[in-house]
Amino acid sequence: MPEKRDYYDVLGVEKGSNDKEIKKAYRKLAMKYHPDVSEDEEATEKFKEISEAYAVLSDAEKRNTYDQFGHAGMDGFSNEDIFRNINFEDIFQGFGGGFESIFDMFGFGGGSRRRGPQKGSDIYVEIEISLEEAATGIERDITINHSVTCPTCHGTKAEPGSNPQTCPQCEGTGQVKQVTNTILGQMMNVRPCRNCGGEGKIITNPCSKCNGKGKIKENSTIHIKIPSGVEDESRLRVQGKGNAGDVSGRYGDLLVLINIKPHEEFERNGANLYFEQHISFVQASLGDTIDIPTIDGEVELKIPSGTQSETVFRLRGQGMPMMRGSSKGNLYVTCKVVVPQKLSEKQKKLLKEFAEMSGEEIHTIEKGFFDKFKEAIHH
Ligand SMILES: [Zn+2]
Ligand SMILES: [Zn+2]
Repeated sequence: MPEKRDYYDVLGVEKGSNDKEIKKAYRKLAMKYHPDVSEDEEATEKFKEISEAYAVLSDAEKRNTYDQFGHAGMDGFSNEDIFRNINFEDIFQGFGGGFESIFDMFGFGGGSRRRGPQKGSDIYVEIEISLEEAATGIERDITINHSVTCPTCHGTKAEPGSNPQTCPQCEGTGQVKQVTNTILGQMMNVRPCRNCGGEGKIITNPCSKCNGKGKIKENSTIHIKIPSGVEDESRLRVQGKGNAGDVSGRYGDLLVLINIKPHEEFERNGANLYFEQHISFVQASLGDTIDIPTIDGEVELKIPSGTQSETVFRLRGQGMPMMRGSSKGNLYVTCKVVVPQKLSEKQKKLLKEFAEMSGEEIHTIEKGFFDKFKEAIHH
């Protein structure tokens, strides 16, 4: 057994991370390593490792124990105890089903897989768009790798022209009955036939295109439409674009997580945008008309004379569009008055005159004073 890695390292998060950060890191890795999605041969092991780390770190009590005692502190917990609190529905909120329970996946604590036509698994992808793109809405082509029904055998798994044989063990029912003697008498048990894997048929001549799997992996380009006003971490479901199901089972869905890149100039909160504008003390004193960037071009902003630093102006309807309806949020501009750090002799002279006129008495400090001051406190 290789030595167990630190749970925080496994998820790539800091020791002091909060629940949200831990969840986000797990979700990212889970999307990458989910065995239904990943091509990586070690995906299942990897998925188990990150899920275990998440199961512990997302539970305040277990996390506390782990922080104090490390892996040794986890010895008292069974797999079931550890994994119980992973709730995929919650982690992939909005994505809905698709992920079976972790107990089914790793075979903990019973929970047998269902038989019969099954819907294919969902595929998860993440895309990143700019704030501008979120404002206008965009259409994008994304390439996904998913399993599709084999075009040669149409999912029957048998080479075209060949006929699958009826399974002799279960006579085509896919189930076997077992009678066991117990102290309570005879008990009848029905379980899937092992000989045919519960399908009732045995393929003697498997399809050469898909090696008898009934599905092949393929790249597909999917056109998606992202509506204007989309929020960061929104999820988009494209029905039927996930992995192929079993014969006669439906396709799973494609689920797209939309991340919005942080913007260089604007902060966003819902439909409102926030912008910081530096103005000089002259502009603040005399007033001015300046150009302010918005998400879709520039607008004029009139700064009244006597504007104080940190004054916030509201530009109605210059924010992000709302997802529903046609209204828009506002743009809030905070004006910061900047004091000049370098003045020419002439500027200084004018400012002194200005001060005199305002009845202010200014005691300017000569150059070099601070250096002397520094010396003084060092002795
Ligand atoms: Zn095939
Ligand atoms: Zn059988």
